[in-house]
Amino acid sequence: MSARTGSNVEAWLAPRWSRGSAALARPPAGHASAAAIRIPDRLSAQLALVFPAASPQLFIHEGARQALERKLKAMSPGRVVILSITDNRNSIISHSMRQGVLHARIHHMFLDAPTRVANALVRYVVHGDKRASTLVGNYIEANSGRLARRRARAIPLFAKGNHHDLLAIFSELNERYFGGACHALITWGRKQPRRTDDRRGGPRPRKAIRLGSYSNLERLIRIHPALDRKWVPRYFVAYVVYHEMLHHMIPSARGSMHPGSRASLALASAKGQPSRRVLHPPEFLAREQLFRKYERALDWECRHITRLLRSS
Ligand SMILES: [Zn+2]
Repeated sequence: MSARTGSNVEAWLAPRWSRGSAALARPPAGHASAAAIRIPDRLSAQLALVFPAASPQLFIHEGARQALERKLKAMSPGRVVILSITDNRNSIISHSMRQGVLHARIHHMFLDAPTRVANALVRYVVHGDKRASTLVGNYIEANSGRLARRRARAIPLFAKGNHHDLLAIFSELNERYFGGACHALITWGRKQPRRTDDRRGGPRPRKAIRLGSYSNLERLIRIHPALDRKWVPRYFVAYVVYHEMLHHMIPSARGSMHPGSRASLALASAKGQPSRRVLHPPEFLAREQLFRKYERALDWECRHITRLLRSS
């Protein structure tokens, strides 16, 4: 993305303690100082986001957090650095020096930022680098979808099912296919009550089932609870998880101002014919086929779709 100039970036970078450009030329980090990058007031009227305090996101993000902390340390020789990751949309970047320790609090959007943005972030935090602040501001602006319109309620994450542990599957896939770089969250979806068939009084069979979905806004993979069965092989659950991880990793919607895509694996027919959405770019399809048991998973899907529909 090309650099933007003007008041937009200034707005992203307006400091907590005085509005205007003072934040860009604040005292060096050796002094007691506190600065925060705030989002403009037009957004702060919205509901505050509450995130589960002990959610698995921290576990999943830990590697990326440590990498960013190492960058901060490298730029602050001989100093102790403590980096916390936040989901606080009112204070995207803040830091302070307390008794020689640099405490930095940074929004999770920076955990998967490109290297040059991460480096700029570090220069901004440690040196108050003005050019770096512009780059950082542009990045925040491009990712503002991660700040706005988030759910006010906490999203409970349940990764451990009765038969399949999604976090274990996710971690294995992350290592094998993504070098640990996938920072999505994962949970079993909630069971939806089925509507009753008026004539027979019994539950109405489903015509379609969405086995997985990915919400860019929440950075969350949801897997349909119908897959948490003994007779559903682990490799098939893994295939669905892998597919949704690709939605997180392949930047079709990421980095845009409209990141709300919920593209997903959709099995739309009750007759055993899987039908796939066309929202998958060629790179997506190519990488999907790298899944070790890709053919086997598709085959299993075809043979069991009816049973999945019936049991969901
Ligand atoms: Zn998909």
